[in-house]
Amino acid sequence: MSVFSVVKEGAPIEVFALTKAYQDDSYEKKVNLGVGAYRTEKGTPWVLPVVRQAEKMLAADETLNKEYLPVLGFEKFSAAATTMLLGSDSQALLENRAFGVQALSGTGSLRVAAEFLARQLGYTTYFVSVPTWENHNLVFKNAGFVEGRTYRYWNETKRGLDLEGMLDDLRSAPDKSVVILHACAHNPTGCDPTQEQWKLIADVVEEKKMFPILDCAYQGFASGDLDKDAWSVRYFATRGFEFFCCQSFAKNFGLYNERIGNLTCVVKNASVVTNVKSQLTLIVRGMYSNPPSHGARIVAHVLSDPQLFEEWKGCIKTMASRVIEMRKSLREALEKLGTPGSWEHITSQIGMFSYTGLNEQQSLHMVNNFHVYMLRSGRISMCGLTPGNVDYVANAIYETIT
Ligand code: PMP
Repeated sequence: MSVFSVVKEGAPIEVFALTKAYQDDSYEKKVNLGVGAYRTEKGTPWVLPVVRQAEKMLAADETLNKEYLPVLGFEKFSAAATTMLLGSDSQALLENRAFGVQALSGTGSLRVAAEFLARQLGYTTYFVSVPTWENHNLVFKNAGFVEGRTYRYWNETKRGLDLEGMLDDLRSAPDKSVVILHACAHNPTGCDPTQEQWKLIADVVEEKKMFPILDCAYQGFASGDLDKDAWSVRYFATRGFEFFCCQSFAKNFGLYNERIGNLTCVVKNASVVTNVKSQLTLIVRGMYSNPPSHGARIVAHVLSDPQLFEEWKGCIKTMASRVIEMRKSLREALEKLGTPGSWEHITSQIGMFSYTGLNEQQSLHMVNNFHVYMLRSGRISMCGLTPGNVDYVANAIYETIT
């Protein structure tokens, strides 16, 4: 009898199971709208030309070696990432109250943040939106949080933000709660608060003394503009909050599997920085000792070279614009077919994902009858749409709904 025989099969991770099913499907017109990864107009993955260029330069640099990075990562990278997020005129940066820690993409940065809050500051309750990126719960629970609570976010009827519900739920937070907020391009709804709404959200977070974590996986990818997409984060900094922001370079640099992210920490007083860094060091040391260098070097190189930086901004625009175009095309195609209901939300939503409003049964119907792979929640990745398949997808939605 194996000692492992007591192990029960864990629940499959929906998005990965969906990709596998898509790969195994031999139907010619199959479409993968599950995974959140950019695709070109031809439906293929894209390595940003600026990334290729940086890689060539790095490969030619004989002075680089494979020695360990420091536990908190490549400092040039984390400094550049923190500045990109907060803006070079940030008061917190000028006063040495903000710093970055290299982490294993957005997920790793959330995990380090959660471990720190649980172990060092004794937080036990976190709040996430309904719906949210499903991994938030696993990350926070595994990091030692005891209670996961939710705040209303998506109003099904309005197909938009339920601000009142959100504020009410946050007002009911117990003392010492952590709140996870999506900085921009909310996953999965694609629906962000307006600036006025952000102010009201920040009021409640302040009133309830919640600790905010801004999850920033899509800076630049949402609107095509790095500053615009960082507005909420910079607003929290200007209001004087102490907070963590978990940055991912998976989407905006197309560096998905390089696992490159940054945990930005903003504190009220520079005097606490040394101690906080020392405890973050021990957390990382106990988990994976130190992060890998390849992605960090690429990002640092691009962000610190004015010409490459401009080129990268061009790449971001290309990706964001293609997504915006596909939103228009899908809405147009649905309206042309006379698909029942309003499809305005498809173009008002932002970022990689759209919450179509299709229910679970309809979403499964899309997969089983039309080979259009999408999450049960009705979420689709706009990046999987191309000029070549958008009519097919619109037609599948029409047939499914009518
Ligand atoms: N947070 C959110 C909201 C996300 O959508 C993602 C990417 N799916 C992440 C964090 C982190 O992803 P990664 O670890 O690949 O950077």
